[in-house]
Amino acid sequence: MLQLEGLSKYYGKAVALRDLSLELEEGEVLCVLGPSGCGKSTLLKLISGLDNPDAGSIRVNGNLIASAGFSLPPERRPVNMVFQDYALWPHMKVRTIVGYGLNHLSRPERRKRVDELLDLLQIRAYADRLPGQLSGGQQQRVAIARALATDPDLLLFDEPLSNLDVQLRLEMRHELADLFQRLDKTVIYVTHDPLEACAFADRLLVLRNGLLEQLGPTRSLFETPVSPWVAALAGYDSRLSGEALEADQEGLWRVLVSGQFLRVKLQKSVHVRSNTPLSVMLHPSAIEVQSRSDRPVGEAPAALDTAQHNELMGKVLQCIYEGRSWRLRLDLGQTRLSLVVPEPYTPGTELTVRFPVQDTLGFV
Ligand code: ADP
Repeated sequence: MLQLEGLSKYYGKAVALRDLSLELEEGEVLCVLGPSGCGKSTLLKLISGLDNPDAGSIRVNGNLIASAGFSLPPERRPVNMVFQDYALWPHMKVRTIVGYGLNHLSRPERRKRVDELLDLLQIRAYADRLPGQLSGGQQQRVAIARALATDPDLLLFDEPLSNLDVQLRLEMRHELADLFQRLDKTVIYVTHDPLEACAFADRLLVLRNGLLEQLGPTRSLFETPVSPWVAALAGYDSRLSGEALEADQEGLWRVLVSGQFLRVKLQKSVHVRSNTPLSVMLHPSAIEVQSRSDRPVGEAPAALDTAQHNELMGKVLQCIYEGRSWRLRLDLGQTRLSLVVPEPYTPGTELTVRFPVQDTLGFV
């Protein structure tokens, strides 16, 4: 449905986007993730026609809409965009805003289409209000209804929830997931929040400094990140320095971390020699407390299946309350580990923690 080939954009010497190629299927939802400045908005601007590529091409349903030296005007592209700041006209009523692109229809037809859209977004009750008389979430719905009015082939969303408060953002996440499913539209949704991306993406595109870092099904970002950088983005917040010693028959590496041994799954099948330094990345949700030095008398530590789990010993450095759980920093000597636990621990407590071998990711 959408084809990008070798798409590049430079601002002076700065690379905003470099050599991006990808194809989107009809009805697919692609979320574009990455930190500020990685090229997310540039990608949307090139597709919507707000800016022109320096190299490469963009095709929708086989038709060229942009390439170096050619650009179809935005209004002639089958593409609409929902902006972060809603971009609603302050002096127009909701009904007029939603019907703005429908001047080619007769009045009764326009009214019918606008009513359908107001119902779809559950904002019919606000049809005669001005944007200033609506909450952020309601304004965002108006912006989505306007973008849908002309039935574009492709919908673009530029961080649409980032101006909303945390609770409303969570609510809108559910609503958008539901809406995307009902609409069956092809969508590109830009966000810097991986959890927002998870909520409705079929595939994720991770950009870093204008370059494609990872593209794949949503779960691949969290289960098989291609680099420590992507792993960190996906919430793997412990990065331990280790030394690869040898591989076993299953292809798992025995790795030395702060004087302790781990079994590690390498993320890329690169040729690794013994004594190679590597990074081990762990997600806090994979780590559990196995036993503690101040364990009440008589309480035995849980049995550990060493074929399935790794363990590490360390001392609690810091314990922060996070609301219904605590985040611990564990000092392993030369390195630190972060985990989330259901009860508080006093700094200085010695802990043994465990985590599945399958979730112990190694990067050379
Ligand atoms: P993101 O949306 O991921 O925050 P952008 O696509 O806005 O990133 O920007 C990508 C890079 O291009 C950044 O380094 C940014 O500073 C640069 N850039 C974007 N727009 C312009 C512009 N109009 N002029 C100069 N540099 C720009």
